[in-house]
Formats: sequence, C-alpha cells, structure tokens
Amino acid sequence: RIVYVNGSYLPEEDAKISIFDRGFLMADGVYEVTSVLDGKLLDFAGHAARLERSLTELDMACPVTMEELLAIHRELLEKNAITDGMVYLQITRGSAGDRDFAFPDPAKVPSSIVLFTQAKPGLADTPAARTGIRVITVPDIRWGRRDIKTVQLLYPSMGKMMAKKAGVDDAWMVEDGFVTEGTSNNAYIVKGNKIITRHLGTEILHGITRAAVLRFAREAQMEVEERSFTVDEAKEADEAFITSASAFVMPVVEIDGATIGAGAPGKVAVRLREIYMDESRKSAI
Ligand code: PLP
Repeated sequence: RIVYVNGSYLPEEDAKISIFDRGFLMADGVYEVTSVLDGKLLDFAGHAARLERSLTELDMACPVTMEELLAIHRELLEKNAITDGMVYLQITRGSAGDRDFAFPDPAKVPSSIVLFTQAKPGLADTPAARTGIRVITVPDIRWGRRDIKTVQLLYPSMGKMMAKKAGVDDAWMVEDGFVTEGTSNNAYIVKGNKIITRHLGTEILHGITRAAVLRFAREAQMEVEERSFTVDEAKEADEAFITSASAFVMPVVEIDGATIGAGAPGKVAVRLREIYMDESRKSAI
C-alpha cells in the first residue's frame, strides 16, 4: 500500500513519524474517515469542513489547503486502485523534540499529516445491513468535547471490546440516563414515523452522515426530532439505527437483550439507507 506522510507518497513500510509526535505521546491530533464507493469520495466537503472545525477548536494548523487535501485523497485512491473502501486522514500537533504539556509554537513546529487507504470490497452491501446489528449500553465516560474528532479513541475501543465480550456488535454510550451515541456512530430511534436522535452539542460528534441523513429525511417529508432519549425509550421504540461514514445507515435490532420492533430492520431505517446510498453516490466526487 502507498501512504501519504508529510508531503511524500511512500510504501507503508517506509513511512515514518517521530516518537516525540504529540499524536503518539498525548493523542493530540484529529482525524477523518471518508468512504469511497466506485472510486469516488462520499461527502468530501462535509469531512473537510469538520476537519477545519476540529483543528480550529484545538488551535492546530492545517499543513495543507483543502484543495491539496482533495488531491491527496484522489492520488491515494489511484495509487492503491481503491474502488470501495475508505481514506483515513490524521493531523497531529507534531513534535518539538521533547515531551511537554504546553503546545509548541506552530510557527516553529509544523503539524504532521498522514493519510492511508483501506480497501473494503462490498462495503455498500454488507450482510449486517440486511439483518441489523445488536448493541449493549455502557456508561459514557469520555471527555467533554466529543464534538472534536480527536484520535483519543481508547474508551470507544474499550466499548467495542465490551460489546464483543457480550457477543454483540457495538455499544451505545449512556450519560445521565440518556443515550449519547455509539462507539463510532450516531444513534437513532424511530417512534411511529418520527425519527429521534440526540441534538448537537459538545456531548456527541457531529456526524457528517447524520447531517446528510437528517437532510434527506426532511426532504422526504419524514418527521425528525433532535432531542435526547433514554435507554428505556429506545428499548420500546419501533425501530433503532445508527449512522456513520463507514456503516452508512445500519439498523439496530436489539438493545441490552431487548428486541426492537420485529427484531428485523425497520422500514424507516431501510428507506433511509436506500435514500442515503443513492444520494451520496450521486454527489460523490
Ligand atoms: N460518533 C462517533 C463517536 C464517531 O466516532 C463517528 C464516526 O467515526 C460518528 C459518530 C459518525 O460520524 P460520521 O457520520 O461523520 O462518520
């Protein structure tokens, strides 16, 4: 695989980052994951805009322009002959050559940028979309700025492991009785024809897929309510689903052992997935 690191395209085994990089020592970095279908990037503009926001919130400089970033994405897709898969992008605050809690002067220490691709043949029609996934709930003990897409993913990884240990697919995180989001996705329930998902704030990541799906839902005259919901409310819902750049719209059929609806993907989730797949392919670049 050919990867991109600080201005160079290299075989992955030749790509190097300093051991003093603050991304490595302190999880001081941000990332984006953009899906690729038919060799094209889904919602690149959305991911680029969120990247700029994450960087701004952390006073971190972007080492490339957004035009250059798009060109790097495309170059990697071509070099690695990716049809279906994803591009991972990470920017970290670099390194001043010593470990220090204070941020280095950005004029002296450039941030590091790394991109790589992952091929995922059949990404658009994974069998899980036909059966739905099962989740457990776990306490949300992450930091308070979950709206910034940082590389600090230890707790979400632990959540995934708790799910795996429980024999299910993922975990929904819960704070003060309310569902925040999945380990790497936004969470939704459906009551009647109403789609309910947590409002934006610092408690959740502002999903790029979430924004697109809510827009498509409203355009299709579906009712959307952006508010918190409890685990009990979710267990009694007619449907549940998640969204993310890599799972698209994925039905959830079980929460903490309770069957949701008929225990199969619900009609709202199935319809939203169809609309999302169609529309995001149409606007892919
Ligand atoms: N919430 C969390 C915690 C995530 O890590 C992700 C994606 O990685 C999402 C939500 C979904 O965001 P997006 O739709 O932009 O992929």
